[in-house]
Amino acid sequence: MHDPYRALYLHLPFCVKRCSYCDFATAAVPAESPQIDEYVEDLCLQIRRQSKEGELGGISTVYLGGGTPSHVGMPRLSMLLYTLGLSMRLEPDVECTMEANPESLTSSMVRDIWALGANRLSLGVQSTDDALLRRIGRVHTYEQVQQAVTAARKAKIENLSLDLIYGLPDQTMEDWQRTLADAVALGPEHLSCYGLKLEEGTPLYERRAELTLPDEEQQADTYLYAVEFLKQCGYEQYEISNFARPGFVSRHNMKYWLLQEYAGFGPGAYSDFGNVRYGYARDLEGYLRGELVLQESETLDADEREREYLMLRLRTVRGIEPKEFEYRFRQRFEPLAALLRQCAGQGLAVEDEQGWHLTPKGFLVSNRIIGLLQDELAREKNRRLQAAARGDYRMV
Ligand code: SF4
Repeated sequence: MHDPYRALYLHLPFCVKRCSYCDFATAAVPAESPQIDEYVEDLCLQIRRQSKEGELGGISTVYLGGGTPSHVGMPRLSMLLYTLGLSMRLEPDVECTMEANPESLTSSMVRDIWALGANRLSLGVQSTDDALLRRIGRVHTYEQVQQAVTAARKAKIENLSLDLIYGLPDQTMEDWQRTLADAVALGPEHLSCYGLKLEEGTPLYERRAELTLPDEEQQADTYLYAVEFLKQCGYEQYEISNFARPGFVSRHNMKYWLLQEYAGFGPGAYSDFGNVRYGYARDLEGYLRGELVLQESETLDADEREREYLMLRLRTVRGIEPKEFEYRFRQRFEPLAALLRQCAGQGLAVEDEQGWHLTPKGFLVSNRIIGLLQDELAREKNRRLQAAARGDYRMV
């Protein structure tokens, strides 16, 4: 079902210090730097410009991500949220998320952002083990995490998400179990659990030879433990890496996975609306000089949307809905169902009243399954083309 309201992403690419595993488009810049002022002013200008052109329509979710939005400080965040409120048509029940890190989130900031309309906080925790946090270049401690959560609750934030990472250097299963238990004890409504990926060019990648990292099997066990543990604690898995108490699914992220329209502002941010997808280069310096370099802009055809549908929907527990698929793409679902039945035989996929989705074990090999389904789609198209060429219109 098409949702007429769009998701809005605002990229705030500044952090206290670069974490050693991070390859996001961010820079370590002191909070008082005029560079951040310039950037936020520029972002506000672009929001006003685009809203004047009336392209974006109604907005139902806003996401302030980064980087570390809490690092830019309250005066600049106020300016940004005021500009948004004045320029955009925000839905009355808009979900407005701000990412924050424990070291820069103060009680007064969390109170003020709530007053300005932010109603969801996503806190970068990663681990509750201080030694592990230091090893990956995080600048906060577990105690600061606890203080940030207390501040959020005092400020009436009732939708709190915590980000965790598993598969960290030297992290044992016991370490991960403790981090999960500590995180659940903090009572968040939502948890995201990501497996560490060594990204080329990061300090951690350069040191990879000296690190003790889990192999594929250990990483899989760690993931499956999290899925089971969180289920027992009342968190439903709704996407490969995301878990929520009933009613607290991230509406913003679901929009991406359900192929809804979104707009992004900032270097490296992508937009996809009016059937055009475009994104700006990840060049912060250039962005500040006013050079908005389009990295990519394309009009997606039905085949590409179909492939995207499979790829994104199979990340979610909502999965693929055969009727919707056939209606949307005018394609028979049966060839894909045949393949999914084989996956079900191996415990990798399951069919319920809504459609097909992957199991936690299936999520571990989702790229392979998605590849097989996309190949099957291509074969099916080929069969139809050949049938049309023969004039056999029963097959088309
Ligand atoms: S705080 Fe987040 S965005 Fe900033 S460097 Fe660390 S991982 Fe990257």
